Amino acid sequence: MSREQTASPALLSTAALQQEKYQSELAGPSKFDPHEIRLSEAGQCPRRQTLRALGYVATPPTLREMAIFETGHLAEERITALWAQQFPGPDQCVREVEVRTEFGVGHIDLWIEPIKHIVECKTTTEKRLKDLPLQSHVAQVTMYLHFYGNQRGATAEISYLIKETGEIKSFPVTYDRQYARELIVGLMEVQAAITMLREPLPIPEDYQATSYPCAWYTPQGLRRCGFWEHCWGSQVATVVEKKVSVKLSPPTLVFWLNPLALVDF
Ligand code: SF4
Repeated sequence: MSREQTASPALLSTAALQQEKYQSELAGPSKFDPHEIRLSEAGQCPRRQTLRALGYVATPPTLREMAIFETGHLAEERITALWAQQFPGPDQCVREVEVRTEFGVGHIDLWIEPIKHIVECKTTTEKRLKDLPLQSHVAQVTMYLHFYGNQRGATAEISYLIKETGEIKSFPVTYDRQYARELIVGLMEVQAAITMLREPLPIPEDYQATSYPCAWYTPQGLRRCGFWEHCWGSQVATVVEKKVSVKLSPPTLVFWLNPLALVDF
């Protein structure tokens, strides 16, 4: 039976179609493997990565949050179109380049092959311009440089599409070896908690239930991390008090996890 025959007249609007699309995405399987450690979250809440990988279920995003997420992809489209004008060859602008490492998996938004350049595409608002580039985004690109770009002599940038005006601001990212090392140690802690302790890492000591990244206010109201209930909900007391801590430092852990692993710090 066709949509024409089944949809009620009230459904026939663009807004309704968007809602229908998000609802079916929510009902279907996730595009992301929850068990993978994400390079894109290096430098962010380590507990979140362990909760997800250990099978804790996050509160599903609201339809509005899904729309915000999708807008991020629109930024990627616009930024890619600019680079494709400059480098129109079929393999010159490559999207979603997988970076698979022993410590996690990432996807470079855009790789410009002729000039060996990483472009990470983000959206932002005019109000946040003064805070750019965000440290979490620098961490993500540092990992891409470490595991992919450096061996190819690459440069990197983070490009922000400003929602209100459509302007794009670019920030170069210079590889910082010491910072990369700290981020990798963080990923190793996440990995050890998942594979050996099989316990989520504790809530970082400086996090609070009502502050970012656990919860934050936007002009549209309160937003919370999808795992907020697991951290600050009724069962939180036992988790916080437990204070499970995994402090590891390379190269000992690398050998412990995999004697063949060679990590270039
Ligand atoms: S609620 Fe806070 S501590 Fe818990 S996973 Fe989210 S960001 Fe981390």
